[in-house]
Amino acid sequence: KEDLKGQRVAVIGLGISGKAATRLALARGASVLAIDKDEQLFPFKHDPEHPQNSNLQMMLGDCDHTQLGNADKIVVSPGVPLEEYGLSSLIESGRKVMSELDFATEVLPQNVKILAVTGTNGKSTVASFAGQMLDHLGIKTFVGGNLGTPLSEAAISCLSSSSTTHIYQVVVVEVSSYQLEITNNYFSPSVAVVLNLTPDHLERHKSMLNYAAVKCSLFSHMKDDKLALLPIGNPYLDEAFSTYAKRCNIAGIGDFPGLKLDMEAKVATCNIPKSGLFRKLQLGDLRAIGDHNFLNAAVAAFLVLGLDVGIDCHSINSIVKRLTLLPHRMQVVCTNSYGITWVDDSKATNVESTSTGLISLRNRKSVVLLGGLSKASSDQTSNGFERLVELLEPHRAVITFGASGEMIYRTLLNSGLSIPCIKAGNLKEAIKCAKFFAVEGDMVLLSPGCASFDEFRNFEHRGRVFQELALHS
Ligand code: ADP
Repeated sequence: KEDLKGQRVAVIGLGISGKAATRLALARGASVLAIDKDEQLFPFKHDPEHPQNSNLQMMLGDCDHTQLGNADKIVVSPGVPLEEYGLSSLIESGRKVMSELDFATEVLPQNVKILAVTGTNGKSTVASFAGQMLDHLGIKTFVGGNLGTPLSEAAISCLSSSSTTHIYQVVVVEVSSYQLEITNNYFSPSVAVVLNLTPDHLERHKSMLNYAAVKCSLFSHMKDDKLALLPIGNPYLDEAFSTYAKRCNIAGIGDFPGLKLDMEAKVATCNIPKSGLFRKLQLGDLRAIGDHNFLNAAVAAFLVLGLDVGIDCHSINSIVKRLTLLPHRMQVVCTNSYGITWVDDSKATNVESTSTGLISLRNRKSVVLLGGLSKASSDQTSNGFERLVELLEPHRAVITFGASGEMIYRTLLNSGLSIPCIKAGNLKEAIKCAKFFAVEGDMVLLSPGCASFDEFRNFEHRGRVFQELALHS
């Protein structure tokens, strides 16, 4: 099992996945050089469960290329751009630079099937739904990647289990574009989806075409009977569709063969190419707000069926009501004594997902809270908030808050928003304003369209604060 004995592995970037990759490299017997610019992130430094290991050397900050050049493998964390540590030139000179996903995949047993999910929005929800379906139906499943536990942890568990019984039959991996930036060499899912693609992370990927190419590299090692799923009619994904259609089974969201949804009836028709499988999924029992969540459940089911692990539509239909949404994604917090329902969509950190949240309210009048730290996008001045005006118009009021509150407020007013729009200071003040506007039967929706770091540790923290205040409203 110690397949890297005598080899040197450098791990760059020691966030959650870098730390896991370091542990995996040690478990594989390598001597490891772990590098980060922040000493606080050095693995095991403050962790009594992991005493110093003589095979592990830490290095602070930039290091010279000779040290990296000496490494047999260089594993790069998703947070580290290729411009850093001379990575681009190391790749050009033929050094073995790999992503954490590839490094983990190298040691996953061949018969463990991979279900992979990427896209701009909805990745975690689809991965979580797929994981829950497999779990409820008795398949030994790992769920992780960009969400929660890194894939390297699954690899470590596989290494430490006995060779005859694998602890996982399926690993469900949520994959971000950052994780795919380095050429994919091993990561070869049995089934995979690029759920959607809209402008995001362009500060790193520079253009939509690059972003699309990076996302679709998820499919680059899928051949023959492997199943790839893509939305139809997205100009950036159409080319990928024709490219990969020649190599593996490809299916379209909204296409035939593929996955079609009747949102009114909450029925999804799954037609998996070449399998002859043509089935109807009944999703009416799903406890969730928003058409996008029915789509997410349908996509998850399509991928689970495509895995060919003995699960059929009937069994999926029978557990739809047991599926739960991850917190802070259109999560209904409470309906208070004034008949006002509070909904936490703190995970909506870009304009696109806020727009999805607003669409999913259908005609339920809401006070909408927008704000936080707006991300750079293709439109640097307004970050796309003007696109929300039409969707906001039928609602009760808009309250903006946080570091980008002023920008959002101006953008909406300049774009002709006619409902009341108030600029508050922080989230707490925004909630106070919301209480003033909301009447019985309304919703108060936090779907901020911005990152949370101006006021909170992360979107979960923001969501928890919102929920706490909602419960006392
Ligand atoms: P990700 O992991 O890609 O960030 P999540 O599943 O955490 O996505 O959902 C984040 C937000 O994205 C949700 O709050 C919702 O507003 C939006 N969203 C979820 N699913 C979809 C979808 N299928 N299409 C468009 N937007 C979606």
